[in-house]
Amino acid sequence: MTDEFTNEIYYDEDADVSNIEDKTVAVLGYGSQGHAHALNLQDSGVDVVVGLQKSSASREAAEDEGLAVTTPVDAASRSDIVTLLVPDTVQPTVYEQIRDELDAGDTLQFAHGFNIHYGQIEPPADVDVTMIAPKSPGHLVRRNYTKDEGTPGLLAVYQDATGEAKDEALAYAKAIGCTRAGTIETTFREETETDLFGEQAVLCGGVTDLVKAGFETLVDAGYSPEMAYFECLNEMKLIVDLMYEGGNMEMWNSVSDTAEYGGLTRGEAVIDREGMEEILESVQNGEFAREWISENQAHRPAYKQYRQAEQDHQIEEVGERLRDLFAWGAEQE
Ligand code: NAD
Ligand code: MG
Repeated sequence: MTDEFTNEIYYDEDADVSNIEDKTVAVLGYGSQGHAHALNLQDSGVDVVVGLQKSSASREAAEDEGLAVTTPVDAASRSDIVTLLVPDTVQPTVYEQIRDELDAGDTLQFAHGFNIHYGQIEPPADVDVTMIAPKSPGHLVRRNYTKDEGTPGLLAVYQDATGEAKDEALAYAKAIGCTRAGTIETTFREETETDLFGEQAVLCGGVTDLVKAGFETLVDAGYSPEMAYFECLNEMKLIVDLMYEGGNMEMWNSVSDTAEYGGLTRGEAVIDREGMEEILESVQNGEFAREWISENQAHRPAYKQYRQAEQDHQIEEVGERLRDLFAWGAEQE
């Protein structure tokens, strides 16, 4: 652990899997995170049962891996730790089904804080409520584990009824491989708000809008869509890989002086700070959460429209054609 961070970071030596060795973990859901948690826990010697609806197409896949599979209600009734790994929008419904199976001293665990932070799930006071959130898609959580590598993770304790919530959460983090890489302690609020802000303003929203705006600007000015695609989308990965490896400086050091000077003097002009602050505010005051919850209750009319528009954007058609023509398309997974 280091003093340089305000948040503690935990590694394997800080965690003890024996804290959950005599417990049963119910993993509800077998998607991206669910399959990785269930398989890593099983390989770490933890007693796991996967909870899936009778009609779930994932049942066979889980059983083929030697996992015990039952319904969410039965899995929750048999277990001491229940990890909710169904989609966030589905979690309140699944929680309603299993809430009566949570005994005093049991643990309700999450991989994202949305439903707790925005009051969509209100667990009883006598259960522990924790979060272990790998900072990576599930297939990497699984692949890293099988290669004896770790996946960075977040840990948060929302409610500690037993006094053992954190030790148990650390044990779980170790069993899925997160303390191999380092697990940062945070809160449900910090995780939820930074996660939503990041995916909206920078990662998913910000970056796609930046790419599309650059592409459209070039195409509208008469340049070829193929050139615009390479310049604005394809090369993004090369730049981001350098930033991932060694921060912004590694990237600046690797590009030409011309690119560096142009980027340093011009980049700021496309950033809307007030827009970013508004996004953060609507995350903090719950406005985004309310909008998304009612959008789901209405069966996602706006979501479907936005998705269709994204699909219909010229950059999709150009990209599909170019990825077929060039070798990098084939070497991707
Ligand atoms: P997912 O969409 O990949 O999988 C969810 C699984 O839940 C499905 O495969 C299915 O088994 C089950 N399911 C789906 N609909 C259901 C329904 N109506 N009723 C019951 N079960 C249903 O979900 P995910 O991406 O693994 O997300 C699970 C949790 O992990 C979420 O809280 C998410 O925020 C969090 N998380 C995800 C990632 C990621 O990269 N995917 C990273 C960190 C945290
Ligand atoms: Mg996220």
